[in-house]
Parts: sequence; structure tokens; C-alpha cells
Amino acid sequence: MREIVTIGHPVLRERAREVTPEELGSPAVQTLVDDLVETMRAAGGAGLAAPQVGVGLRVYVTEVRDNPRYPYKPDLPLRVLVDPEVRPLSGESFEVVEGCLSIPGLRGRLRRHAEVEISYLDRDGERHVEVIRGLSAGTFQHEQDHLDGVLFVDRVEDPRTLTSWESFVAFQAEAFAEEARAIVERWGS
Ligand code: ZN
Repeated sequence: MREIVTIGHPVLRERAREVTPEELGSPAVQTLVDDLVETMRAAGGAGLAAPQVGVGLRVYVTEVRDNPRYPYKPDLPLRVLVDPEVRPLSGESFEVVEGCLSIPGLRGRLRRHAEVEISYLDRDGERHVEVIRGLSAGTFQHEQDHLDGVLFVDRVEDPRTLTSWESFVAFQAEAFAEEARAIVERWGS
């Protein structure tokens, strides 16, 4: 388990650097990967990027399994992404309400590409290229942003949509669940 750093910590605003092939097999990076997975699961995140535990490397993990923080998110098997790239595949996008473990208590509305191609190395250095659609595509865009020092609040177009988790649950959760269902229906995930 590692400590999750929060907004205002400089590491969250820096561009993380690439992991070299030699580094990837090192105990330091392999332990980092294990710790990211464990910390993400313990914190109930859908993803966690290395800068969020204070490490400026281009690594993140994603996983969704019956997540109570995101009851509307489709399940997503565990992935470890090293030196990833995320490329939008079409001009289509949707609005979504996001939160972030590094911005405790806050959620806000923003726009994400509906279809992306992700290209990354796994923890063994194997290259994967996959097409990801819908809410899951948003998850990868959120984590990828962390590697470039970008936080979801930077992408919130209307700051008046910012809400605490408590207020989200009280006033928006039901309506948003409908929106999320429509996205899942349209894009399959
Ligand atoms: Zn985040």
C-alpha cells in the first residue's frame, strides 16, 4: 500500500517520464506495479496512476469489479499499462461525471472521447493494442491525463457542475445513472 497524494502536490502537475525496457523488469518498477494494484483496490478506484503515489513514471493500472464508487461502470479486467498511448478513434464524445482519488470528495462533469485505441506494454514488456469504447474509454483517458500532469478538474467546462460526493449522491446520482446506462447501451461498455 502506498499513500495517495492529493491535488496541489507538484508531482500531479508534472509530465511523467517513460519507463525504459531495462527499468521495467527491475524490482523497483515491479514492486510499484504491485503496490498500484493493491492501493487502487483498497481505495476503491477504477484506476491509479504512478504520479498519484508520488512516482513520476508513465505507468497506471485500471480495474473495475462491482465498484461501489462507480456502480454504473461496466466491469473492466485488471490491466497494467506501461508507456501507454491513447488515441481517439472518432469525433464522437459523451458527457460523464468523474471523480479522482487525488481530489477527495469532488466530482464534476466533462466530455470524453467515446472510442479510443490504447497501445501499451504490460508488466512483462509485451505490447498490446486494443480498442476501448464507452465509459471504459473515459477511464483510460482519465488515467492517461495523470501521466501528463492533467487532472479531471482541468477538463470540467462548467465549474458549476462541481459537486461533493454527498451532494452527487443526494441530487444527481439517479439522473446520472440513466445517462450512464444510455452510454453503455450505445457503446457497449
Ligand atoms: Zn485520477
